[in-house]
Amino acid sequence: MGKALIVGAGGVASVVVHKCCQNSDVFEEICIASRTKSKCDALKAKLDGGKTKIHTARVDADNTQELVELINAFKPDIVINVALPYQDLTIMDACLETKTDYMDTANYEPLDTAKFEYKWQWDYRERFEKAGITALLGSGFDPGVTGVFCAYAQKHYFDEIHYIDILDANAGDHGYPFATNFNPEINIREVTAKGSYIENGKWIETEPLEIKRVYNFPEIGEKDMYLLHHEELESLALNINGIKRIRFFMTFSEKYLTHLKVLENVGMTSIVPIDYEGKKIVPLQFLKAVLPDPASLGPRTKGKTNIGCIMRGIKDRKEKNYYIYNVCDHQECYKEVGSQAISYTTGVPAMIGASMVMSGKWKKPGVFNIEEFDPDPFMDALNKFGLPWKETFSPELVE
Ligand code: NDP
Repeated sequence: MGKALIVGAGGVASVVVHKCCQNSDVFEEICIASRTKSKCDALKAKLDGGKTKIHTARVDADNTQELVELINAFKPDIVINVALPYQDLTIMDACLETKTDYMDTANYEPLDTAKFEYKWQWDYRERFEKAGITALLGSGFDPGVTGVFCAYAQKHYFDEIHYIDILDANAGDHGYPFATNFNPEINIREVTAKGSYIENGKWIETEPLEIKRVYNFPEIGEKDMYLLHHEELESLALNINGIKRIRFFMTFSEKYLTHLKVLENVGMTSIVPIDYEGKKIVPLQFLKAVLPDPASLGPRTKGKTNIGCIMRGIKDRKEKNYYIYNVCDHQECYKEVGSQAISYTTGVPAMIGASMVMSGKWKKPGVFNIEEFDPDPFMDALNKFGLPWKETFSPELVE
């Protein structure tokens, strides 16, 4: 059907490339482009020879002009941005200049402030509309599938959804005392930031990890989970009917939090540059360099993830509860694509989101969050491409 340019060659990109190759009717040709071309070439070497034709290129995605030249040379139907959130705007600029559709899995975050919100990308709405191109924002798991789950519940089960709790549990064990499952810099910035949730139309801020709950996750068991700020709260509060409160919880083990506390206390998680032997270094970026590469966790990680949404609302004036989730097994993912479940649960929806736009099912001019599209074809594709979902109408609720 068409061509996709994949920007980034890290943990998530690797899964996207595998999954595009499994869906070669849609992805006839792909180009993997990143800052370090050898990583793109290594991915190509793994997957070459199938129906999907694979190209590679070097690109600095902070540089719009370089991106424009690459897009003009390869002429993709869509750019799949699985680099880092810092590159979202330069890639969107290049898509505007070349009139190419755009997709990402995380919203823009300026390098110097750990504050992620949609305002920068929503500012592109009019320009994308005028150019007649689509930007699909946040097509990973959370954000991503969580938004599709909410849109699906709204379409099929509720008149109004009053309460949403998004629950992200990772019961995987990689055997290291401390490591992060995706880019350590992005992960630690997220976890050490203040928590927040939306209640009655207002953001309520909490201290980092201040609110803790214990939840008995299907197929995983009881876990401690903590309230975090998360980007999809902002868009879901606007796009789902009747929201009174929306929160996001993620599980962390005591071991992970103790290490993080120590690193924080000694200043290693700071994003403020310091002078070191005449050179400016950012402590968090240095920490990233000494931690295990998330891509290397694949073969060592055992256990499952469970990510989903618990909703409470009304249908035909009656109260209704609903829980929809996916359970993913780290080792199964590794067997299939050579990655652990965190990269897998992000890369599969990224491929599906791109295929929705490329096939025309989700093609409309403008900038959209994932829950603004018809969830049904995406829900079918989740079952087909490795992330089957389960639902129950009598879940345990979060206090
Ligand atoms: P990695 O750090 O493994 O990979 C990032 C890739 O981007 C690397 O290949 C890196 O290149 C490349 N890159 C960084 N800067 C540039 C640049 N200026 N130009 C070109 N390439 C660049 O990250 P992950 O794969 O773990 O994460 C990818 C994205 O997915 C992130 O935005 C993350 O926030 C998002 N994510 C979303 C989730 C969701 O559920 N929605 C969950 C998990 C992640 P190099 O190799 O040279 O460093």
